[in-house]
Amino acid sequence: FFYGQSPPVYPSPQIQGLGDWAAAYSQAQAFVAQLTIEEKTNLTGGYAEENGCSGNIYAIERLGFPGLCVTDAGNGVRGTDFVNGYASGIHVGAAWNKGLTYRRGVDMGGEFRAKGVNLQLGPVVGPLGRVAEGGRNWEGFSADPYLSGKLVAQHIRGVQSNGVGTCTKHYIGNEQETDRNPTTNSQNETVASLSSNIDDTTMHELYLWPFVDAVHAGTVAIMCSYNRINNSYACQNSKTLNGILKTELGFQGYVVSDWFAQHSGVASAEAGLDMVMPSGLAFWGPNLTEAVQNGSIPEARLNDMATRIMATWYYTNQNDGYPARGVGMPASLSAPHEVVNARNPSARPGLMQAAVEGHVLVKNVDNTLPLQKPRLLTVYGYDAVNPQFNTPTPGLSSWALGLTSTDVYSVLCGFSSALGPCTPFLGYAANGTIYTGGGSGATSPAYISAPLDAIQARAMQDGDTVVYWDTQNINATGAVEGATDACLVFINAEASEGVDRPALYDSYSDSLVINIANQCSNTIVTIHNAGIRLVDNWIDHPNVTAVIYAHLPGQDSGRALVSILYGDVSPSGKLPYTVARNESDYGAILSPVQTPEESEYSLFPQDAFSEGVYIDYRSFDAKNITPRYEFGYGLTYTTFSYSDISISKIPNPRNQSAYATGAIIPGGHADLFANVVTVSATITNIGSVGAAEIAQLYVGIPASGQPVRQLRGFEKVFLTPGGSQTVHFYLQRRDLSVWDAVAQNWRMVVGGHYSFSVGASSRDLPLTSTFTL
Ligand code: BGC
Repeated sequence: FFYGQSPPVYPSPQIQGLGDWAAAYSQAQAFVAQLTIEEKTNLTGGYAEENGCSGNIYAIERLGFPGLCVTDAGNGVRGTDFVNGYASGIHVGAAWNKGLTYRRGVDMGGEFRAKGVNLQLGPVVGPLGRVAEGGRNWEGFSADPYLSGKLVAQHIRGVQSNGVGTCTKHYIGNEQETDRNPTTNSQNETVASLSSNIDDTTMHELYLWPFVDAVHAGTVAIMCSYNRINNSYACQNSKTLNGILKTELGFQGYVVSDWFAQHSGVASAEAGLDMVMPSGLAFWGPNLTEAVQNGSIPEARLNDMATRIMATWYYTNQNDGYPARGVGMPASLSAPHEVVNARNPSARPGLMQAAVEGHVLVKNVDNTLPLQKPRLLTVYGYDAVNPQFNTPTPGLSSWALGLTSTDVYSVLCGFSSALGPCTPFLGYAANGTIYTGGGSGATSPAYISAPLDAIQARAMQDGDTVVYWDTQNINATGAVEGATDACLVFINAEASEGVDRPALYDSYSDSLVINIANQCSNTIVTIHNAGIRLVDNWIDHPNVTAVIYAHLPGQDSGRALVSILYGDVSPSGKLPYTVARNESDYGAILSPVQTPEESEYSLFPQDAFSEGVYIDYRSFDAKNITPRYEFGYGLTYTTFSYSDISISKIPNPRNQSAYATGAIIPGGHADLFANVVTVSATITNIGSVGAAEIAQLYVGIPASGQPVRQLRGFEKVFLTPGGSQTVHFYLQRRDLSVWDAVAQNWRMVVGGHYSFSVGASSRDLPLTSTFTL
């Protein structure tokens, strides 16, 4: 039971040069043909080099191959200086802006390139966000696979336009941090990683979906994850690697292990793993050479590993004038080192725009916002100011270097020790404003614009007054200045790799809000949140007049917020997840699976993904639970109206066939990506200020087991007052198909009555229509 439920798929498919990989494939073949077995082996395993790269691959100097530097992560180059700290995945997800995501990728890619990094260890589409308390959900874009998939494709195209490879991770089913890796129990027995037990349909319709977009967009590497999938480790799972990724999706790049995620030598090689990080020596290295020499592993498999790795080097044109490996990644930032400034001034507008667009306004009573020429503002809360560190690193905060879970505790304890014994706040609020989550996805900002700093700067410009109260004074008499125009309260909810969140709110922060609201009739709450944050303890307080989910904006955080508060720009974000009223509304997937030592599964923890595709809004819709704020929700300073839905089928005889056919290209059958239906609708700005609207299209597929609606289109349009625009949603075959586990193919419900609805959120859908395919 504990092993062997994942079907065997062997042998490992070889790279074929599919899609636009033909030239890179033949260059790689020619290169690999000149290599010795040892040289090929060397390409497959990382080694420790005196630089700051997360991993390195050996050079083959006699043939002019300088080796590879691979480094974290999806939100910017981590752990070095002279780079920018971009808005995090969840923030970009909340912006719902394809063009902006592409631009962020281009700008970020330029930095990886300048630093001599060949492979970005990002973006993240796994975790997808199944577990509401998941510690790494913020690294990805959204709990919806379609939104996540559209944005990941833009990210990959943007980064790779600069010749930097992307490594889409973590493949697959890595939905919680708890038990992601093997541990040792009190009896000194090895406890295996958690097994994510996912059925074939759920795998395809939910978790695989954004990986399909990533492969289709040309991601050059896929990182296999720490967990097991159907009881087989992700980096030796022949079904997910050989079967789904390399056969069904026609993936032409290489599979690299997550750090220390390899658990076997021959088995992982045969299951489709191509590169091991951070070191090849645990199972491969000389053992791989020997296994090939004695016939345990066919040399063709080693050739394929090497060819896939080298093909990505040619595919990204890294053979042509790429900066020296790791040139801007010093081993120690404290030691003197050459400055490699990767920051390009052309990135600044995009950084700021992304910071702005991920803010989601969810409450705004009587147009509290934007502020109307305030004379006096009072600011409260630990999240308004920059974090304080005990051991600063020159030029960088330790936060910027990437927090581990231990760091999260120590930041918290540094804060709470002032209040008594060191107990982290329930829900992990962090002391100081947060602009990134923690762990390997953390960013290394060049500076941090904290909310209070930016509010002060604005007051200085306008000649206003700002008063700041730190949190210890929240109950003090007179904490609210009688003449204040508004009380701005700042709280946060931090998350980090390595640990799941214990709750979706914390009582310390909630009391702070309530105490201020009790004393101030115009209380505006800003939450920096690295994941879902519940607000029902105070959302209906009559004095809480406005609330913003500010997510993780990156280094321009405060400046971006001020531009929204003062109405320089209208907010335009929408929630990329569902905010419930109560934690229990998420059901069994609120929290990570914990496996007690008494459990019969104690040595082989099991996680049945029995809810199938019903996570986030799919679950709330199915159970008819009213959320506090539904998926896709967000307010702005104007009002939009929706009109004139129309649906048309694109004339093409191929669109008559139920099953996907056509050659396999990266991503799967070519015709999965062909447009089948166009839906159009008109959006009009009927308010008095310019603003952007995110129009959303949801589709109900007429087949059993399908959610009542799923996101299948979104367009963000900026409209001036009175302005109107018709948006077009192009639906591809895959958008209208269900996974047929028997046929092992995508099936369109030909003759079925599809329902289409268009509107401002998943529960505000003024336009509906049906259509028979
Ligand atoms: C993380 C990866 C990361 C790697 C290298 C692992 O612990 O899961 O996301 O890329 O470390 O730092």
